Amino acid sequence: MTEAPPAVPPPRPGRWQTATLVEVRPETATAKTFRLALPEPSPHLAGQHYVVRLTAPDGYTASRSYSVASPPDGSAEIELTVERLPDGEVSSFLHDVAAPGDSLEIRGPIGGWFVWRGDTPALLIGGGSGVVPLMAMLRLARGMGRPDLVRLIVSARSQAELYYAGELPGPETAIVYTRRPPPGWTRPPGRLNRADLAGSMEKDSVAYVCGSAGFADSATDLLIDAGFPTPDIRVERFGPT
Ligand SMILES: Cc1cc2nc3c(=O)[nH]c(=O)nc-3n(C[C@H](O)[C@H](O)[C@H](O)COP(=O)(O)OP(=O)(O)OC[C@H]3O[C@@H](n4cnc5c(N)ncnc54)[C@H](O)[C@@H]3O)c2cc1C
Repeated sequence: MTEAPPAVPPPRPGRWQTATLVEVRPETATAKTFRLALPEPSPHLAGQHYVVRLTAPDGYTASRSYSVASPPDGSAEIELTVERLPDGEVSSFLHDVAAPGDSLEIRGPIGGWFVWRGDTPALLIGGGSGVVPLMAMLRLARGMGRPDLVRLIVSARSQAELYYAGELPGPETAIVYTRRPPPGWTRPPGRLNRADLAGSMEKDSVAYVCGSAGFADSATDLLIDAGFPTPDIRVERFGPT
């Protein structure tokens, strides 16, 4: 069983290190999970991210942030899940070119605000690839034997676009399909709404909202309208760089 990380400041991001890509597996048609072995492992907190830096032969570099999907479990490996964006400089390289055995320059773990240490009830709301850091939180809660601490609401267009589809379902999770729900799904398709939050607003919870800027803003507005205390809402936006 995983133990809750100690209540100490988050680790300082290490220096650049060269990780080895050990596994690539598809999550959806446009998202893949990349498992990286770190030569200098540094414990991460659920919600933190790493920066991946690509360097072209002419010295040009491109760096992007990717949340850690794997839970803090003392492993020397981390998992990042990346959505492939059309014409995306870094995401399309990772999807189309990177292969097991390759080296990748990374730096992290980074982030001290959008982190969950497993010691408070948490309401997690993610859209699209915004579910990635929340998955680390769900995995931590389950690993600690405390799934009751979290409530995860995931918004996806359809079942085919749902990340971690085999692992996500459980009594502590709810899926909102915005476009094409699977056959027999009783909730009509549509954006996350106030009714989806019913029963999720536990006292003393901290809310973690993650997704595109539009998704994050509308989910935050919903929470505030429903009476969730604004200081207890933490937001991460995966916007264009
Ligand atoms: C803290 C943090 C954590 C992140 N974690 C993840 C993660 O776990 N998984 C993940 O897939 N992404 C994550 N992102 C987004 C990621 O850093 C990149 O922005 C994304 O992969 C696009 O980079 P790119 O080089 O492929 O595209 P770019 O070459 O930067 O952009 C290509 C085109 O896509 C648009 N664009 C750029 N970023 C986005 C975006 N996020 N959504 C929609 N359009 C965009 C640009 O405006 C441009 O038109 C995170 C971002 C932050 C700030």
